[in-house]
Amino acid sequence: NDITYTVAIRHVGEAGIALLSFQDITALTTAGEMRRDFVANVSHELRTPLTALMGFIETLRGPARDDAPARERFLEIMQNETERMNRLVGDLLSLSRVEADERVRPTGQVDICAVMRSTLRNLNPLAIEADVNLIPELPKGTVMMAGDADQLMQVFTNLVENAIKYGGSGKRVIVRMNFEAQMNALRGPGVSIAVRDEGPGIDPLHIPRLTERFYRADSHRNRALGGTGLGLAIVKHILNRHKGRLKITSELGQGSEFKVILPLEQDTTTLDEAG
Ligand code: ADP
Repeated sequence: NDITYTVAIRHVGEAGIALLSFQDITALTTAGEMRRDFVANVSHELRTPLTALMGFIETLRGPARDDAPARERFLEIMQNETERMNRLVGDLLSLSRVEADERVRPTGQVDICAVMRSTLRNLNPLAIEADVNLIPELPKGTVMMAGDADQLMQVFTNLVENAIKYGGSGKRVIVRMNFEAQMNALRGPGVSIAVRDEGPGIDPLHIPRLTERFYRADSHRNRALGGTGLGLAIVKHILNRHKGRLKITSELGQGSEFKVILPLEQDTTTLDEAG
C-alpha cells in the first residue's frame, strides 16, 4: 500500500509539472505566434495597396501615357490607395499607443457629455456626405468621469464612423446615452452610450472576433469601404484602460448596436431638468 501511495503521488506530481511546463510553452508560443501573425498581417495589408500603386505607375508610364481620361481615373485610384495606406499607418500608431497606455490609469477628469457632443459635431459632415441621418439622444448637462478625452473621442468616432459606413445611405444612426446609478455589468454607477445603425447587421458567428486586429466580417466589401480593420481593436484597448465594456448586438437585415458601458464615480452627475 505504501508503495502504491508513493507512486500515485509522484505520478500526480509529475503530471502536474508536465502540464504546467506545457502550458508555459504554449503561452510563449502563442505570444510569439501572435506577433508573427500581426507582422504578416501588416505586411499583407501594406503590400496590397503598394502592388496596386506599382501596377498603375507602370501603366501610366506605358499604355496609358497618352490617354488623358484613363490617366485621370488611375490617378484617382492611386490617391485612394495612398490615403488608405496613410490611414493604416495612422491606425497602427494609434494601436501601439493605446496598447502601451492600457495599464496606466487615466488621471484626467472628462465630461463625457461634452465628449459625445463634440464627437458628433465633428462627424456631422461625414454623415451628411454619406446621406445618413445622425440622431443624437444625449442628455443636457455634465457627467464627469476619470478618463482621457482624446481616447474616448477616438472610441466614439470609430463606432459612429462604422455605423455611418456600414449603415448605408438613407438610413439612420442613433447615438443614445443613459445613466444608471446601479449598472449591473459594473456593480456601480455607470454611463452607457449605444450607437445603433440600420445596416445589414453582422452574422453572430463574427461578433466575438470583431475586436481582433484586422478581423473583418466581410473582407472584400470592407476593404472596398476603405477600412483598416483596426478600429475596433483600438476601441477595445481604450475601453480596457477605462475599465469599460463593449456590448455588440446585431440582427441580420435589421442593423447593429455597439454599446459602450463606462464606470462613473458617485456624485459626478449634474443633469439639467430637460435632460
Ligand atoms: P474596419 O476598418 O474594417 O471597419 P473595424 O475594426 O472598425 O474595421 O471593424 C471590424 C469589422 O466589424 C468590420 O470590417 C465590419 O465587418 C464589422 N463592423 C463594424 N461595425 C459594423 C457595423 N456598424 N455594421 C456592420 N458591420 C460592422
